[in-house]
Amino acid sequence: PENIEAINQAAFEHCIFPLAEMDAVRRDGPHIWVGGQGVELTDNNGRTFLDMMSSHTRANSLGYGNEEIPRAIYDQLVKLHYVGTVDNFVEPAVALAETIAGLAPGRLSNLMFVSGGSEAVETALKLAKQYQIDKGGKPRAYKVISRWNAYHGSTMGALSVTDWLGTRHVSEPGVPGTSLIPGPTRYRNPFGMEDEPYADFCAAYLEQQIIHEGPENVAAFIAEPIMQAHGVQIPPPNYFPKIREICDRHGVLLIIDEVITGFGRTGAWFASEHFGVEGDIMTMAKAMTAGYFPMGAAITRKEIIETIPMFRHVHTFSGHGGGVAAATTNIAICQRDGVIANARDNGRYFLDALQSALAGSPIVGDVRGLGMWLAIEFTADKATRQHFADDTVKAVVQRMKDMGVLSSAIGNAMEMAPPLITTRDQLDRAAEVTAEAVRDIARARGF
Ligand code: PLP
Repeated sequence: PENIEAINQAAFEHCIFPLAEMDAVRRDGPHIWVGGQGVELTDNNGRTFLDMMSSHTRANSLGYGNEEIPRAIYDQLVKLHYVGTVDNFVEPAVALAETIAGLAPGRLSNLMFVSGGSEAVETALKLAKQYQIDKGGKPRAYKVISRWNAYHGSTMGALSVTDWLGTRHVSEPGVPGTSLIPGPTRYRNPFGMEDEPYADFCAAYLEQQIIHEGPENVAAFIAEPIMQAHGVQIPPPNYFPKIREICDRHGVLLIIDEVITGFGRTGAWFASEHFGVEGDIMTMAKAMTAGYFPMGAAITRKEIIETIPMFRHVHTFSGHGGGVAAATTNIAICQRDGVIANARDNGRYFLDALQSALAGSPIVGDVRGLGMWLAIEFTADKATRQHFADDTVKAVVQRMKDMGVLSSAIGNAMEMAPPLITTRDQLDRAAEVTAEAVRDIARARGF
């Protein structure tokens, strides 16, 4: 305990806690983790938790303690760790690009490696703008349209198309030319509409926004296939076909941001597959290496990259050998062990388990999910779908943690993103703990 006290003290003396509510961290102390195995994480108090979040940022799609990926990283780093960018590649980077092009939807074929999700989004935005300029016809196409509550990252370009957690507001003014429109949300929306008509409305809104910004000025529209804000916002099937058609009609590129959904999270390599949509540019990161190495990428079509004589954008650690080895091995493991099918089937099993366990709860409004990405939306009044005014979601998450299961509060919803390898026994335990925590908090709130 003395050692723990000293580490906590040193953390407060020397670390920055990004996006943490500091009053809560000062009250509860930071989380210092010392080990992980399978889907379990152990902290420096010796407590072990079932990590139903794949790490706090949902990246650890294969859980903890995999030995093949670190070995592959080691072997590559010893052989040739890094050679710079421009027209230099470590040899396996080329094969990895070919493999990912084979997994990506439709005509997406050419890819630039970067070091994370925000860099992938910056790359996508700059590809779109340069394409529009170099193609001719839209010489001033600097505008990008994004959506309310979107999260695309923390660097200035990605942040400018972000509208979640207040991160944008403290750094404004952002990149000029950005505007935001509503995106489809399940269960609740600001206009009290049903889900499908609301999705139609959101798509129609895009067209109006393009017209009002001036189609000749708009380079791209960026969207996550499933938005994270307020918990796993799976769009109705009518949404993306309309978005695709509107973008095509106005010569606006569609950027699909798969940073959080890519590499199996939703039971498909990429969530675009569920909606039959193909972006002109698609971003990826997080589970690309199962969290074993920082890496991201943006992939685009031949016609787009061939229109740009020199892509004036570079990041030093693009295509680092460690990331290449990690992503190559992660993909091979997923293919060999049926990881994506497990995410699809066990995700469905977990969703059924949660839906039946929570069916009678007076404070649960909606339980939804796709693959291993699930959310429970809470309400203080099922008839009006009113939000809770207090910290009910956080209380449920804390209660679950007390019982040894890690989940996350995300606005009005509780989110779970279990590692894709999680077994049905482990999911059963998570569902039981969830139901018990929800019961306890409902009772404590007088329901
Ligand atoms: N895009 C999406 C959809 C994300 O969820 C995130 C991170 O959560 C990002 C971009 C930014 O990625 P990174 O944190 O790796 O920069």
